[in-house]
Amino acid sequence: MNLADSESLARHLLAAGYREAPDLERADIAILNTCVVRQASEDKVYSKLHELRQWKTPDRTIAVTGCIVRKEGEGLRDRFRHVDAVVPIGEYQPFLADLEARYDYAMGEPLPLSGRTGISHYVNVIQGCDHNCTFCIVPKVRGREVHVPMPVVLSQCRQAVAEGAREVVLLGQNVDDYHDPGGGGGLAALVRDVGSIHGLKRVRFMTSHPQDLEIELLQVMAETPVVAHELQLPVQSGDDVVLKRMARGYKVDRYREIVGRARTLMPDLGLYTDIIVGFPGETEEQFLNTRRLLEEMQFDVVHLAQYSPRPGTHAGDRWADDVPVEEKRRRINDLLALQREIAGRRTARWIGRTVEVLVEGADELGRPYGRNRQGKRVVVKRARTQPGELVSVLVEEASPGQLAGSVAA
Ligand code: SAM
Repeated sequence: MNLADSESLARHLLAAGYREAPDLERADIAILNTCVVRQASEDKVYSKLHELRQWKTPDRTIAVTGCIVRKEGEGLRDRFRHVDAVVPIGEYQPFLADLEARYDYAMGEPLPLSGRTGISHYVNVIQGCDHNCTFCIVPKVRGREVHVPMPVVLSQCRQAVAEGAREVVLLGQNVDDYHDPGGGGGLAALVRDVGSIHGLKRVRFMTSHPQDLEIELLQVMAETPVVAHELQLPVQSGDDVVLKRMARGYKVDRYREIVGRARTLMPDLGLYTDIIVGFPGETEEQFLNTRRLLEEMQFDVVHLAQYSPRPGTHAGDRWADDVPVEEKRRRINDLLALQREIAGRRTARWIGRTVEVLVEGADELGRPYGRNRQGKRVVVKRARTQPGELVSVLVEEASPGQLAGSVAA
């Protein structure tokens, strides 16, 4: 979501005639796009702002955008007097007007937007979040859900393809919640329609919510050739009591049912999840239920986080953060080690098989890389392929993070 917002702001700046600077030293403007989902992400913003004190001169502009803006507001400028602008997400016009007044001598010709479109293009289909998970600050800082009309999404996807994109990633905090305000249907209908756009080679979507996901979507994924067989489906905990206190709206059995149905329809499904350890009141037994779920589900990737109390959330304001830091660390390290083993086994199963890779670019050794249909990164050895090509690769090597292989005969 943050990458998509950065991309959108970059497009506005390019359209206004700005150029991307090769490095900070040669830049006139520095914009920080921020995340406040955990205290650690917020602390990174403050440390970056401290660093930028050295960089700041009267001719240089520092702007801050992203989720910190709704959380801290103009108060940020009291704390960091070298910050020139605080820019709410998506409200870029007043900021651009201020910049224009400041830098009109430096304005160039607007760049064609196509200069910015890569092989993979993000399209926001829902802004904000209507869930009320007790740990989460997102609804406060991104507001309630606004759904983008289906014709608008489709035209953005077509435009991206016309500009060179070969993959679109449909984005929402809970993307399965999507419904066209014009009555055109939900995410399943949207994915099916986007999947029929000529020239598009892959469609992905994220992030799913187990409460909202409909089985029809799984059928569309299985039947539509360009749709990735990949689910980003955060479970958060493997314990029903904890899930209830998190106000997630489902039980572990519902999660099992979704994954079971998905794997029946797509046996090689790439399954990704998020887990929080050390939620207020989480007992050892409740933690062990999460550990058992990891063993049972065999996820491809688990994004693990230690619970971080956030002001303004139900849990942050009302419940003691009572799992000690060392205990949270022990639990996260335990799950990290377990998941490393599982991920190793999950990737090893690809060795000797042929996968379809959409090439995105070249790695630091100049080797083309991309993702297979299940979302796994694949490096293509000894081959000349161009970004945007779909190639069949025989997998020869596997590590938890990526696969590598040669173009299949
Ligand atoms: N659709 C997703 C879901 O089902 O929750 C939304 C993604 S959420 C914005 C990003 C992830 O950040 C969450 O899945 C959760 O694991 C993590 N997260 C959110 N609030 C957190 C907190 N207070 N402490 C630790 N991790 C948190």
